[in-house]
Amino acid sequence: MKKKSMGGKVVIAVVVIILLALAVVLIMRKSGGGVIEMKNQSCPVSGKPVDGQHSYTHEGKRYNLCSEGCAKRLSENPEKYTNQ
Ligand SMILES: [Zn+2]
Repeated sequence: MKKKSMGGKVVIAVVVIILLALAVVLIMRKSGGGVIEMKNQSCPVSGKPVDGQHSYTHEGKRYNLCSEGCAKRLSENPEKYTNQ
């Protein structure tokens, strides 16, 4: 009986560890792990200087933008503005 309950605890511990590992991976992805900063000084949409407030990440690359409007335009058609 004692052995059986111990086995159950080990299974729970393994499941918890797996879930924690998955959570860490998801958090890393969300916080921009592996994102390349393009550090562009002019907006790829309008060509104006970037304002340091707006950016858009496409295919692992973060582009600086000049305004919310450009962020929207880039998000709607990223291929048009990022394939150069
Ligand atoms: Zn712009």
